[in-house]
Amino acid sequence: MSQPRALVTGGAGFLGSHLCDALLAEGWSVVVVDNLLTGRRSNLDHLRNAAAFEFVEKDICEPFDVGKVDYVFHFASPASPVDYTIHGIATLKVGSLGTFHALDVARKYGAKYLVSSTSECYGDPLEHPQKETYWGNVNSIGPRSVYDEAKRFTEAVTMAYHRYYKVDTRIVRIFNTYGPLMQLNDGRVVPNFMKQALRGEDLTVYGDGKQTRSFCYVSDEIDGFMRLAKSSEHLPVNIGNPNEFTILECAQLVLKVTGSKSKIRYEPLPQDDPKQRRPDITKARQLLGWEPRIDLETGLLMSLDYFRKAVAEETTAAK
Ligand code: UDP
Repeated sequence: MSQPRALVTGGAGFLGSHLCDALLAEGWSVVVVDNLLTGRRSNLDHLRNAAAFEFVEKDICEPFDVGKVDYVFHFASPASPVDYTIHGIATLKVGSLGTFHALDVARKYGAKYLVSSTSECYGDPLEHPQKETYWGNVNSIGPRSVYDEAKRFTEAVTMAYHRYYKVDTRIVRIFNTYGPLMQLNDGRVVPNFMKQALRGEDLTVYGDGKQTRSFCYVSDEIDGFMRLAKSSEHLPVNIGNPNEFTILECAQLVLKVTGSKSKIRYEPLPQDDPKQRRPDITKARQLLGWEPRIDLETGLLMSLDYFRKAVAEETTAAK
């Protein structure tokens, strides 16, 4: 049998590039389509000479065709609050038009399909922890709505292609994930705190720091994607680590693993910032036998070298 071929939209992003590595390791050939709006070509540098890897710079908001593929992994979208606030219209377009085009590729070639969705579908959740059956509490006109509603629409289009066109679809709802290859300046809490701690600057805690998130190390997250990709579950599945931390606890852990003497500085809480977030992963456990293995302190330690290098490179570049 010839080598199976996967399309990864958004493959130059943080999660997309880790996914490419996992697919290549399992013997897939991989074609990435990315417009590099928030993704970085350098995330794929190590694959430049890999025979089974291709990169196509293209905006999937226009129809596209990269030839026959067996699997479509649709991961294209700005994903950090800073990125999707700056690129609000592009976020809405890639979640809507881009999703139609990714699904059209899957439909044309009879390919399987998995799309990255998000815990943002639950908004500022009134149910805790969040099960897949919870419909969410989203402000459709607030600053986060460009992402939240784009992803909710992404899910709706995906389910419609499944129901009307029988496309073999899957939806993963991703909770806060961190690790190497995150952009130092994407504004998310882990890169912000790591960067600030390593530079000896104050750690900027928004609000009173009592809001919670549940952080999943990237290798656990990718393992969840790969298991879901092989399953035949069409309804959304939460993939995230259920160990919940306040943002203040997260700041303290970053200070511990970096050995930094930085102080904490409180700044205003952004509008509609969810107060709490923790996945209920009963479904992933039962359906996929998936369990995250890496706790936050260990994962931060495993990310330290990457963040040290990124901070050093940025300092050199600024000189
Ligand atoms: N946050 C913070 N300081 C920062 C960046 C983020 O206190 O420098 C908070 C943010 O307000 C939110 C949490 O950390 O409550 C997670 O933010 P992030 O942007 O990483 O992701 P979100 O889960 O909000 O999409």
